[in-house]
Amino acid sequence: MVIERINFLKDEINKANYLYYVQDNPSISDFEYDKMFAELKELESQNPLLITPDSPTQRVGSVSEKFFPYKHKHRLYSLDNTYEYDDLKDWYNKIVKEYGNQELVCELKIDGLAIALTYENGIFVRGVTRGDGITGEDITNNLKTVKAIPLKLFEPIDIEVRGEIYMPKSSFEKLNEENLQNGEKLFANPRNAAAGSIRQLDSTITAKRDLSMFCYTAILSERAQNLPKNHYDSIMYLKKLGFKINPNIQLCKNADDAVKYCKIWDEKRFDLDYATDGVVIKVNNFLVQQEMGFTSRAPKWATAFKFPPEEVTTTLIGIEESVGKTGAITPVAILEPVQLGGSTVSRASMHNYDEVGRLDVRIGDRVYIKKAAEIIPQVVKVVDDNEHFNRKPYLPPEFCPSCGSKLTTHPKEVNLYCDNPDCPEKIRAKIEYWVSKDAMDIDKVGPSIIEQLYNKGFVRTPSDLYKLTMQDFMQLDLVKEKSAYNMYTSIQNSKHNPLSRLLTAFTIKNVGKETAGVLAGEYGTLENLMNANAEELSEIEGIGEIIAQDLYEFFRKDENIRMIEELKSLGVEPAPPAENISDEFKGKTFVLTGTLQNFTRDEASEIIKKMGGKTSSSVSKNTSFVLAGENAGSKLDKAEKLGVIILSENDFIKMTEGRI
Ligand SMILES: [Zn+2]
Repeated sequence: MVIERINFLKDEINKANYLYYVQDNPSISDFEYDKMFAELKELESQNPLLITPDSPTQRVGSVSEKFFPYKHKHRLYSLDNTYEYDDLKDWYNKIVKEYGNQELVCELKIDGLAIALTYENGIFVRGVTRGDGITGEDITNNLKTVKAIPLKLFEPIDIEVRGEIYMPKSSFEKLNEENLQNGEKLFANPRNAAAGSIRQLDSTITAKRDLSMFCYTAILSERAQNLPKNHYDSIMYLKKLGFKINPNIQLCKNADDAVKYCKIWDEKRFDLDYATDGVVIKVNNFLVQQEMGFTSRAPKWATAFKFPPEEVTTTLIGIEESVGKTGAITPVAILEPVQLGGSTVSRASMHNYDEVGRLDVRIGDRVYIKKAAEIIPQVVKVVDDNEHFNRKPYLPPEFCPSCGSKLTTHPKEVNLYCDNPDCPEKIRAKIEYWVSKDAMDIDKVGPSIIEQLYNKGFVRTPSDLYKLTMQDFMQLDLVKEKSAYNMYTSIQNSKHNPLSRLLTAFTIKNVGKETAGVLAGEYGTLENLMNANAEELSEIEGIGEIIAQDLYEFFRKDENIRMIEELKSLGVEPAPPAENISDEFKGKTFVLTGTLQNFTRDEASEIIKKMGGKTSSSVSKNTSFVLAGENAGSKLDKAEKLGVIILSENDFIKMTEGRI
């Protein structure tokens, strides 16, 4: 029967979604998923009457005219909050006086958008924004595209659930990067990005954004059986029903325990892939909650401890222009030093001059600084003050700060460029990149050595590195015979690096490490690649027309042809590509992590390639194996979460035995 098949497919797909998006534990391959999805869609299109709201095909979104207001059945209250541990203890002590010792539940306060979801007989029927707590907006269609929200629960019950919609920090960074490339508006933080995504009238846009949801409150109908007696159990019940809950929930004996929890997460919050701005602390026992009741705006049995802000204000002292390896000029904010997320910050990124113009930052302004992806701080916005408009607007530089050349713009790009091939800072940045770990990996020659080599007139191009003698190095400050020898040999040893490294080092526009690897694999030798035409290049998977054109042009430029010839005459010749010795690893992707005992990582990668496999730097659901050495870090955790097969070094040796 068609209906049985449809029900079977719906259940299987919903289950796969649940395992992937709620449990982080994929059960089937993308291929199997897509196949089932396509079959379901086909059956539904032949039998439209059989389409139900819980069908995974209903997650794709549609366009609406406007959002309709919806009055909440149960009001969404605010929470009282504090930045002080003492307030937290006072709050608890008052409770103890009246009700005796109470267990508390601590949960991370997710910095997203509060949403109320309604399920009838286990089917998702409505999703409403918080609004003013009394009336919100019905955004059901948009919420259906969020795959962490179950369309059908594991039990056919009536329930209202509250939670927080959020965008993972990593997805937020990616979205902003794309927007920057496309000249679109940047979102100030993950919460704004989540809000902007969830309130799209065209929910097909919402569907493309990576949103997720943690649930933290259950309102069960009185008719339900075996109601949980306390908050903690109710959260575990939500989990059992198929909702995504935050794994860092903790039951605490008293206020001291709760304070400990807050202190731990104040530190650890920067490691999370979602933004959290504090901890919500609730009395666990539902009967005590009922007794305590509400003030006009907030429950008395809950409070929020807020973390000190990740955003701070400071004064912009100046804007420095730095010249990159491609000649792109990047504005860097010079700041009055300020403490942020556990470190002192005195410089912050401003991406490019479009962004500087958008922010309208002027020297002397107070500015908000925050940590993006918790590593590089950036300027978020200017603090409103009366003085701002009295200050001189900042104008992008016209001339290169290093060589004084007139700066130019390149078509379809927001950056300003110094196109002078002899620009000192550009040359230094280029050589620094040439020796870097991703490119030729000449580890004994660092930035300060490069600066000295440049100042002495020894290097003007990367190929000059290969002309240096030991005597040249010994003329540099503090360089003795032994380190001169090390520098010299580390340069010489790079001459026969794999082609992919040389291609990376060339700094061809849009060609990074990964693309260089693809090209080297496809063409084998530099000559073959140089002879390829743009059309042919664009047909390679992962290359595309733009990169193909950039490559083609790079190899037609006189200066580049000269450089390649010079490198060749100096003996820089990539090692010939390894012949595949078998294809046992064909179609398999490996990720290497940690320290191996018997091989370097490069050697292990080489073996994998020789056996027909591929390597990748990050773990995803497409990873076949993670080869984990000692002290393997987060990649191993991720592999475990995704259920990727983890190989020890011994496993790997066994798999490759007799072939290497
Ligand atoms: Zn310049």
